[in-house]
Amino acid sequence: MEKEKTIYVIYGNDPAEMTKKILSESRIENLIKPGSLIGLKPNLVVSKPSSSGATTSPLIAGAVIEYLKDKGFDNLLILEGSWVGDSTKRAFRTCGYEDISKKYNVPLFDTKDDSFTVKTSGGIKMEICDRLFDVDFLINMPVIKGHCQTLVTGALKNMKGCITDREKRHFHSLGLHDPIAHLNKIRCADFVIADGLCGDLDFEEGGNPVQMNRIVCGTDSVLTDAYIASIMGYRPEDVEYITVAAEIGVGSCSLDDADIIELNKDRTIASAVSTGKVSRLAKHTVQKNACSACYANLIHALARLDEEGKLSKLKGKISIGQGFRWVESDGTGIGSCTSSFENYLPGCPPAPLDIIDFLKDQTD
Ligand code: SF4
Repeated sequence: MEKEKTIYVIYGNDPAEMTKKILSESRIENLIKPGSLIGLKPNLVVSKPSSSGATTSPLIAGAVIEYLKDKGFDNLLILEGSWVGDSTKRAFRTCGYEDISKKYNVPLFDTKDDSFTVKTSGGIKMEICDRLFDVDFLINMPVIKGHCQTLVTGALKNMKGCITDREKRHFHSLGLHDPIAHLNKIRCADFVIADGLCGDLDFEEGGNPVQMNRIVCGTDSVLTDAYIASIMGYRPEDVEYITVAAEIGVGSCSLDDADIIELNKDRTIASAVSTGKVSRLAKHTVQKNACSACYANLIHALARLDEEGKLSKLKGKISIGQGFRWVESDGTGIGSCTSSFENYLPGCPPAPLDIIDFLKDQTD
């Protein structure tokens, strides 16, 4: 069955309300058969709270559970296995999932304790935890964040929490991309709800969160990851596991064919940046009452320019925010609020890839 090509996006600063609204709009309940065992797979790679930019917000997980229970689905399970250097049980506790488990009477399952079955795809043998195959409907709940090796981590890579620790090491020895794609060929999520509240700029273990204030969902993990890549300033083809997954038929990576539905506009104001790498990028900006999503798009775009060695070639600082409405300037502005600037990029908010192209022109 062909997967739906719709991606839903919602902005704001109330994760529980945003989660319920986006689930309602996507009508997730129509996709689940009555009596199904529903597995929630957050990203709890390390024992750090979601504010670090590393792990899935428990507020989103709690709202998913509340929504599903309200629709009559009671057979739920949260499953995860942290990275080889951390304890999943400690992560469940630190990240707020023990509290959720008690509050909603939903069991936690540590995949590190599980038996496994060896499955093969594309000639790659892999040890996959057995509990995953008991789940009838899998909801993947990744964090939208950067990754030091794969550039971006989203839904496809989050499935790595369902393999043994030995297999996680094996994946790294294979360069991650091919095995991640083939793991998803064996078992891909049925639904993705991605936490884009404050994922890390470029590191999966957090430390440099970027306030993005959004949640994204879809049924095609490849398409959802292609969109996630784009909001971090990458083209889908920049992220090898996305293109490999598309080639082997896990889903589509064509954003041109996607129907991207934004349920609202972000009007929450970006807060002051205090973390190391993000504040270094922020020094190239002047922001006055910028919307969080708009400012996040600019920060991701500046990070990509930095990687290409073009950040230092920018002429002057980049202005952004509602405080620049009707302000005339010969400087450079990002977003429709800076339309009185001599040099500005329209959009409300402009997409990171458009910001990158626009700012590159300024450096030539
Ligand atoms: S252009 Fe202005 S109003 Fe639009 S998202 Fe950016 S800061 Fe907000």
